Amino acid sequence: MIHRVALTVLLALAVLTPGPSLTAQSTTVTLRAPLMLDGRGGSRPDVMVSVSGGRITAVGHATGAATYDLSGLTLLPGFIDTHVHIGWHFDLNDRYATGPEPADQAVLYAAENAWVTMMAGFTTVQSVGAASDKALRDAIARGVLPGPRLLSSLGHIANPKMMPDEMRVAVRAFKADGADLVKIFASASIRDGGVPTLSQEQLDAACGEARAQGLRSMVHAHAPEAMMRAARAGCTVVEHGGLANAEALAFLAEKGVWFDPNIGLVTQNYLENRKKFLGIGNYTDEGFTSMEKALGLKEAMFAAALKTKGLKMVMGTDAVAGGHGQNMREILERVKSGQAPAHAITSLTSLAAESMGLQNEIGTIATGLQADLVAVEGNPLTDITALQRVRFVMRGGRVYKNERR
Ligand SMILES: [Zn+2]
Repeated sequence: MIHRVALTVLLALAVLTPGPSLTAQSTTVTLRAPLMLDGRGGSRPDVMVSVSGGRITAVGHATGAATYDLSGLTLLPGFIDTHVHIGWHFDLNDRYATGPEPADQAVLYAAENAWVTMMAGFTTVQSVGAASDKALRDAIARGVLPGPRLLSSLGHIANPKMMPDEMRVAVRAFKADGADLVKIFASASIRDGGVPTLSQEQLDAACGEARAQGLRSMVHAHAPEAMMRAARAGCTVVEHGGLANAEALAFLAEKGVWFDPNIGLVTQNYLENRKKFLGIGNYTDEGFTSMEKALGLKEAMFAAALKTKGLKMVMGTDAVAGGHGQNMREILERVKSGQAPAHAITSLTSLAAESMGLQNEIGTIATGLQADLVAVEGNPLTDITALQRVRFVMRGGRVYKNERR
């Protein structure tokens, strides 16, 4: 079993493009593309991007031959998904694995998820999160195991019985353990009605302590009241908002709290893989009925979100078992539901970076930033499905995919 997955990882490593990709790049490589979308809403034709030492060193008009000729492709910043569960997977019986399982087995499945995610053009993902993310995050950061830059909450705070002081202690423990952010559940799952589960005092304590520790706070909230408590507490971002109303969305906008509506992948993926989840925890027939209903609610919620002035919306999928590598379905659904392609692309790149405080490192094609670059077949401004035709992936100046048709 372990040998089988280990072999998969080795095979994945073996298909890496040879040549410049596997050498440390002290020398400059160039990429030439007929169209570039910079991630901040700007676009320019016939561009040449220079990369050295893992960073973008120049962006200019194309002249002459390039190391990587990306004709026919559109060049974009590497994609970012701010909400995944990188370790979730189906087991040998093709059922959702809830553990306990051997740690080596778990982390190899997570490595597989990381690989398929990066092959879909996602060069940074935030996992929210499990303790086992840490080994994978740190391994990828060492620079040998291929995968997206990984940030993780390393766990979450959800117990409504915790006193505010206990929540502060828990936040400090995550900080000490090396978490990149804190994940907090402030409402029940949509399968259980989505009602608020934490009080204002509890959220004030958790998000307040996170801020004091220099950590961002991400809050799972479906009911409008749960969303508004998170915004009052100054939490960084609210996830899902399955039951959101105009008032709650406007309040998030007013408080400058980010909003990540997950409308395109997570629920669809659960429904598509119903028999792999059914019978585990709250994945009951009733739970699935609630999720079917939630799909319709999400459409109305997203329409309201688009109409909310000043609401900062960011890309996150809540990718779980079965969903890894399909992250872009979220953006396709948002565009199908009325968001302008240019705005959807910004939420996937520069805004996602900004929501994680990484806007000076990733999310934009500009001099000085990390060379996280993706090229897709077609023009996503006129055909958003182009984002699913990823032909070229560079992360930190290294090429991991270069498939020309
Ligand atoms: Zn989640």
